Amino acid sequence: MRSTRSMYVAVAVLVLTMAVGSYVDIENDAMHARHLEINTGLERMVRLNQELTNMLLLAVLEQNTLRTASYDTVNADLESTIKTVSQLTRKLNLSEEMSALSDDHGKLHVTEEAALKLMRQERWSEAHGMLFADSYVLAKKVYEINSETAVGALTGELAKTVEYFDRMRRAAQATRIGALLLLLGWRYVLAPDAPGSRRAGPFARRDLGVHLVLEDKVRQRTAELETANRQLQALSATDGLTGLANRRKFDQEWEAEWQRASRQVLPLAVAMVDVDQFKAYNDHYGHQMGDLCLKIVAQTLGASVQRAGELVARYGGEEFAIVLPGLSGPEACAMLERVRVSVQALGLPHAKASVTGVVTVSIGVASCVPGPGQSSASLVQRADAAMYRAKNQGRNQVALAD
Ligand code: GH3
Ligand code: MG
Ligand code: MG
Repeated sequence: MRSTRSMYVAVAVLVLTMAVGSYVDIENDAMHARHLEINTGLERMVRLNQELTNMLLLAVLEQNTLRTASYDTVNADLESTIKTVSQLTRKLNLSEEMSALSDDHGKLHVTEEAALKLMRQERWSEAHGMLFADSYVLAKKVYEINSETAVGALTGELAKTVEYFDRMRRAAQATRIGALLLLLGWRYVLAPDAPGSRRAGPFARRDLGVHLVLEDKVRQRTAELETANRQLQALSATDGLTGLANRRKFDQEWEAEWQRASRQVLPLAVAMVDVDQFKAYNDHYGHQMGDLCLKIVAQTLGASVQRAGELVARYGGEEFAIVLPGLSGPEACAMLERVRVSVQALGLPHAKASVTGVVTVSIGVASCVPGPGQSSASLVQRADAAMYRAKNQGRNQVALAD
């Protein structure tokens, strides 16, 4: 149990560390790409700024405004690059450097715009004065210093992130090795005989195979035995000729129903059904026809008894017993009257039947609520006595016990 749990923990840790490892690798790649982009952006910023300054200085020295034709385009390019780099560095500790660079560019741009305006008005010496003034030269210097600072900060950030990801990767690797060791420990120490285990070795594996085959055979044999047992039980409870419950089954069920009715304080009825003048039938039609007749009568009785707990059994010879839980004497009589009618309605010829000319039955019924001073056997006896009374009173009738 504990070994299985440790196996699950090991697998979970393995999966987790593999996920962390993959995350670190993906993040690392993404970070490298981002840093490369920032670096290129910073270089581009310095270059474009240089380009703008050179363009203006040459224009003022040559007194040629055509030199400034692409100033606006290059300036727009520079501004958008500053924006892009600022966005890229937002998650890094570079915001200070970037805003300083942006400010510096702004200051330079103000002077450049003013000088450009003067140049367009051909006021060359004023423009020259502005572009070669100390303030502009200083601002340019500051811009260069700040751009170098930004590149340095970026390199520092890069080193820090690389270190962080390396630590993450190493930790993930160490945990992964730990999980693997845990898994191997489970495999070869805690559960060495698990299927497929190498430590179990060829012998153990062969034993396992034999064991599985044996287990399978045992399972198969058990299933066969269970089926056979069920069939045997059914056979031992069934009457061979009629397929109804036999006397053994009746005795069992009758006892069980008696106990149940006793516990629940409910009435329980029993009927004894006997085929009239059956000896004469046998004598006249032969034993085989007698058997067939018994089968047909049994079928009719079986069909008439369908409620849960009710049971028809062959009590012996041409005599049947019916268990009717929950029915009082009169209720049982009414039900059995229908049974008697349905047997007669079969119209099985009986040449020797004194009254009807067909096969009929005589039925004795007894019912009671089981209680002290009463026995299950005595109720059957009373039903039997009632059946004989029905015979004596002319057969083909139902008689209720006193
Ligand atoms: P009663 O109306 O008074 O019941 O007269 P009966 O002839 O039916 O009564 P009796 O007990 O004298 O005869 C029962 C006959 O049932 C005797 C026996 O040959 C026959 N019998 C019993 N079991 C079987 C059986 O399994 N097959 C056949 N064919 N006959 C059977
Ligand atoms: Mg009889
Ligand atoms: Mg009889």
